[in-house]
Amino acid sequence: MAPHLVRPMRFVLPMEAGMRPAWMLRTGLFLYDHLGGRKILPGSRSLDLARDPLGGPLKEGYRKGFEYSDCHTDDSRLVVLNALDAAERGAVIRTRTRCVRAERGESWQLTLEARGGSDSVSARALVNAAGPWAGVVETTVLERAPLQNLRLVKGSHIVVRQLFEHDRGYIFQNADGRVVFALPFERDFTLVGTTDNPFSGDPATVATVPEEIDYLCQVVNAHFRTTIAPGDVVWSFAGVRSLADDGSARPQDTPRDYVLAVDRKGAALVTVIGGKITTFRRLAEAVLDALAPVLGARPAWTANSTLPGGDFPVRGGRGAGRQDTRELAVSERGACASPDRRLWHARASYSGGDANLRRPRAADGRRSDRRGAALSHPV
Ligand SMILES: Cc1cc2nc3c(=O)[nH]c(=O)nc-3n(C[C@H](O)[C@H](O)[C@H](O)COP(=O)(O)OP(=O)(O)OC[C@H]3O[C@@H](n4cnc5c(N)ncnc54)[C@H](O)[C@@H]3O)c2cc1C
Repeated sequence: MAPHLVRPMRFVLPMEAGMRPAWMLRTGLFLYDHLGGRKILPGSRSLDLARDPLGGPLKEGYRKGFEYSDCHTDDSRLVVLNALDAAERGAVIRTRTRCVRAERGESWQLTLEARGGSDSVSARALVNAAGPWAGVVETTVLERAPLQNLRLVKGSHIVVRQLFEHDRGYIFQNADGRVVFALPFERDFTLVGTTDNPFSGDPATVATVPEEIDYLCQVVNAHFRTTIAPGDVVWSFAGVRSLADDGSARPQDTPRDYVLAVDRKGAALVTVIGGKITTFRRLAEAVLDALAPVLGARPAWTANSTLPGGDFPVRGGRGAGRQDTRELAVSERGACASPDRRLWHARASYSGGDANLRRPRAADGRRSDRRGAALSHPV
């Protein structure tokens, strides 16, 4: 879908005292390797952390561990490319535009505000996909009763100077049962997160609090040889997860699956609760399935389609842990070797699709000379 944006990463899972036994983890990783039909990324393997260099940054005492494949992406670039793709297929993308009122009749009458002005559009169907704002949209824009099954959970991250020099990430099961990641970040740093704390209020105001920074420093100090204190944190940030509340006592136990609420009494309304980046295309297709009686049914088409700039062959197999694709092999090697931080950042962010981004396809499939919407307008 987006081989220029989705980067493979190997994760190291150290065995901890009191954790699930090794046979159970091995079985889980075997299923993980084989059930998903994985073709490109290398499979999981056992590690002897007492001897393997990957155990080097960890505190003494770790013996067994596992390494497995996953991926990471730049979520803001992913949003931009989705918007660009949609625009190329005929969608109207309106950035910095707030829906302030939605009146329901045979169709929806929506009042939109942008850049000091407002205008009105009508729609046969409305999808409330406002993430953690879904509840606010429900009560203030749609003037309906509060969503009963929306649970907001805050996740904070800290960034510190590099805790290890290799390109793997670590996934720890902390003593409190929570899972915390430590990931290579922007070449010279390590990103540690997250927390899982109940949240209420305006998601736009979310911020990391000192207790969360203390907690994440403690997690680092419990697992790495290098110890850190809050003063070592160079940056922190927080986000709010929208989760479908299943009544779990602890926020971290709430499922990350999405739930759709479909209401076709009058003009159609679909409300999205929960979800993950990893399932966003499935979610979008499920929304369109739910709206098929209104908009008409069309076969799903996204499984094998690429986002702009991503239509180049991807090779894989064992040893493809680092990018092993035509464009990325060039861009990543060049980027990693480059002493120029700006060049590194530009290549890491925009590699693979620059020509496509500059010249988006017109509706008839031809390349236009127009600059991409994503580059000329922030999305
Ligand atoms: C801490 C944290 C860690 C996460 N980790 C992962 C992970 O590792 N893997 C993974 O797959 N997912 C992860 N997620 C989940 C992922 O970020 C979300 O699933 C994803 O961002 C949801 O995208 P979305 O477009 O549905 O919602 P959002 O990205 O929240 O976008 C909602 C949009 O609606 C807009 N909006 C709100 N009100 C209005 C209005 N009235 N009119 C117009 N627009 C409006 C907002 O401005 C916003 O742009 C994580 C989330 C958090 C918070």
